[in-house]
Amino acid sequence: MRGVWNSCLMATSYPSASEDHAARGLHADPLPSAVTVLVVEDEPDIANAIANRLAAEGWTAEIAGDGLTAVEAAARLRPDVVILDVMLPGIDGLEVCRRIQAERPVPVIMLTARDDETDVLVGLGVGADDYMTKPFSMRELVARTKSLLRRVSRAEQIAEAGAMPLPTIVAGDVQIDRAQRRVSRANELVHLTPTEFDLLVTLAVTPRTVLTREKLLADVWDWVDASGTRTVDSHIKALRRKLGADLIRTVHGVGYAFEPPDGT
Ligand code: CA
Repeated sequence: MRGVWNSCLMATSYPSASEDHAARGLHADPLPSAVTVLVVEDEPDIANAIANRLAAEGWTAEIAGDGLTAVEAAARLRPDVVILDVMLPGIDGLEVCRRIQAERPVPVIMLTARDDETDVLVGLGVGADDYMTKPFSMRELVARTKSLLRRVSRAEQIAEAGAMPLPTIVAGDVQIDRAQRRVSRANELVHLTPTEFDLLVTLAVTPRTVLTREKLLADVWDWVDASGTRTVDSHIKALRRKLGADLIRTVHGVGYAFEPPDGT
């Protein structure tokens, strides 16, 4: 699966479940056979517990105890996933995430101490794909890691199979180029993380239709668990900050809807 991350923007995409449905006929539920995970955590007990749990899945797990070691290890190991604690000695998880992502897109699950810390990180535009607040269950961490790996693996299969052309979504001054995975508003290119892009597309393909957090979690994250709905909220915040608050409407107690600008 490494090649996916090395080649091009298109290949680094994670297809949403709805796109995936169109691509069925490829392997069902693909999980790569050899998985390398970089665990970045300065508390040895937590780091070892995570690494041991991942090793029990048959995966290779390496621990980095500080930020600079993590950046070096990511370049050397080329991990499939990075599990990244925010509070680290030296450079913090934010900066580690930026430096790792600058070199090569790699899925990141960020570990935070509090829910509001997650909101701050999302507001800063850190390119993590998922967030988990401590304390978390190892079972949930493994499940989320697997769902992330499946999305990456599906992207590779679709790229290899020669994906069907995906039409560009145009809504007012917003253009969502699904083939190039580029988004612009008022002719300004807007940088989105792969997960933010998938979330936007999932909402935009059915404009003015309310999708529940649970539905979004299942379609975008491929993961059904009520505790993950905060992740949805956080990514919605990021989309609004980057693209404008008018584009996504909150339906309180229900979920979110894409609202085409200017009533288009
Ligand atoms: Ca820490």
